[in-house]
Amino acid sequence: MSAPQDSSGTSANIDALLQETRRFPPSSEFAAHANVRDEAVYQRAHDDPEGFWAEAANRLDWFKRWDTVLEWNAPWAKWFVGGQLNASYNCVDRHNATSRRNKAAIIWEGEPGDTRVLTYHDLYREVNNFAAVLLDLGIKKGDRVAFYMPMIPELAIGMLACARIGAPHTVIFGGFSAEALRDRINDSQAKLCVTADGGWRRGNIVPLKDTTDTAVADAPTIEHVLVIQRVGPDIRQVNMKEGRDVWYHEAVSRESRRLVDPEPVDSEHPLYIMYTSGTTGKPKGQLHTTGGYLTGVSLTHEWIFDLKEEDVYWCTADIGWVTGHSYIVYGPLANGASVVMYEGAPDYPDKDRFWALIEKYAITILYTAPTSIRTFMRWGDEYPAKHDLSSLRLMGTVGEPINPEAWMWYQEHIGGGGKCPIVDTWWQTETGMIMITPLPGIVATKPGSATRPFPGVEATVLDDGGNPVPNNTGGNLVIARPWPAMSRSIWGDPDRYVATYWSKYPGLYLTGDGARRDDDGYFWLLGRVDDVLNVSGHRIGTMEVESALVSHPAVAEAAVIGATDPVTGQAIVAFVTPRGGYTPNDALTAELKEHVVRGIGALARPKRIYYTMELPKTRSAKIMRRLLRDIAEGRVLGDTTTLLDPTIVSQIKEQYESSEG
Ligand code: ATP
Ligand code: MG
Repeated sequence: MSAPQDSSGTSANIDALLQETRRFPPSSEFAAHANVRDEAVYQRAHDDPEGFWAEAANRLDWFKRWDTVLEWNAPWAKWFVGGQLNASYNCVDRHNATSRRNKAAIIWEGEPGDTRVLTYHDLYREVNNFAAVLLDLGIKKGDRVAFYMPMIPELAIGMLACARIGAPHTVIFGGFSAEALRDRINDSQAKLCVTADGGWRRGNIVPLKDTTDTAVADAPTIEHVLVIQRVGPDIRQVNMKEGRDVWYHEAVSRESRRLVDPEPVDSEHPLYIMYTSGTTGKPKGQLHTTGGYLTGVSLTHEWIFDLKEEDVYWCTADIGWVTGHSYIVYGPLANGASVVMYEGAPDYPDKDRFWALIEKYAITILYTAPTSIRTFMRWGDEYPAKHDLSSLRLMGTVGEPINPEAWMWYQEHIGGGGKCPIVDTWWQTETGMIMITPLPGIVATKPGSATRPFPGVEATVLDDGGNPVPNNTGGNLVIARPWPAMSRSIWGDPDRYVATYWSKYPGLYLTGDGARRDDDGYFWLLGRVDDVLNVSGHRIGTMEVESALVSHPAVAEAAVIGATDPVTGQAIVAFVTPRGGYTPNDALTAELKEHVVRGIGALARPKRIYYTMELPKTRSAKIMRRLLRDIAEGRVLGDTTTLLDPTIVSQIKEQYESSEG
């Protein structure tokens, strides 16, 4: 980072302060063997996006080919209209019919160390059996099925079984409370809830069935609860309600096991409903459909992760989030990949569990989140150093902007000192698939930039008046053209879909994130527009100030917010998690303020810095700044139901109020 540029932005734009000049082209070795080697793919997709996506759709097996690639009545999209296919057939049956039959589809490890490997043939049989159980429980095409599960193979199997019979699933993250589960079940009006007797997390049992009992007591649409035995009665007894609750291992009896023909569904048939993580407020149930979605996730997965037949691919997300849907289940399995799935915590039994898994399974592709990377940095370099990570050849990140220093640490300590290209992938629950990302064989990366829109995706940055902003000026990130994996609506609330995403700029998709483009056309995500700071008439993205803080060796993680200030409009308040070995004191505070000024300019000097061992995060581990704002402005705290640990907010609140008074 160097000195800030002149900040001459008008108040409608977001000033760009961070200057990152490091650049990492792929090695010639990697580029020579990459799946996508020809830069011309960008131009071709730009010139004929529908032709491009139609070619991509040919990767799938269709029972009936589509008549029309795209019907676009903004904001309503229909892709591959008239086509019929089945997602489960595409993820399972078609591989089972080839030499992939005996290839590992899911390589699973439980937290206690138990393991299971399912070949594509095993997966085929399991999905058929699960589909038979669903039919026997009266689930029909179009019925919704909720999942509240640990990370065990039955979750993926159950989702694929739903897809097989045309019943949309809604997976609710296993860390959510009974209220959150109940609300999502009621919103989707699910008939069946699939859960387990428990799951392992940090050596303890997550009592999923007990929580489900509380939730479904107030969920009138639920007819049955299907319970997978994960931990067994010696470890956890659960109550089974007569007439409602069914053990999966009993339901999948010798007599019930059978093959279930995959139901050919229309391309636009609902595949699933997925609720957003709730960082900004009430979660929105995004509706994803079949043909376009599967096309988008399959193509992006193969190109961005440079998937080869022999790769061992691991995405560390939970399947309860969209990342798990698109890049553990549907994308990789549609591509016939070997997918690693891990049940538990990264620090059980010790802080090197991820690295032990990579070594044990010789994982070649790793996809994880900046929040995890910052945690690993805080734990210390010695944990990855204990393991042989040389099998890795490509790494990705998703979920938040990655601070350049975290990116550099990832490259150095996990990626063999620069051997592995890093793909920083920007996307959302709404977009279904990765939208802005490097293609690793073509695009030189810059730490902290998600680089370029995927071929066929048109992204732009607009000011509040709808005009494109100049290079190096921040504004609203917008997607200017429909794409096949896009959310089709908010379940049960089409008005909210229109109001949230399509009314600021009619016909253009509003992402809600701030971004800027540099002179090479690279995109830099600046954070959520709702979180943008407003200091003396300058609008500053949270990402840049946070990254300036994280670039100091004492800082593991930082969240900044703007608090009302009589002089400057807003004053920057920073909440900082120190790295091991550093003690917060006044001298450090002064040094950090100076460090920010040196890095990105006097405008961005934090007025106050607070130290905290944890930042408030959503259950998907994203920093939730709106609650910090509520604290700083003395407001009643907003919605905290999606918060990982509500006690952290009250601790920060106490500290804040005592230091102010
Ligand atoms: P809600 O919409 O309910 O507030 P959410 O936005 O956290 O929840 P997700 O769809 O899981 O729910 O997250 C998408 C958001 O995550 C993006 O809008 C962006 O803010 C952030 N994000 C994801 N990947 C990246 C990335 N590579 N770089 C920067 N930001 C990212
Ligand atoms: Mg969002």
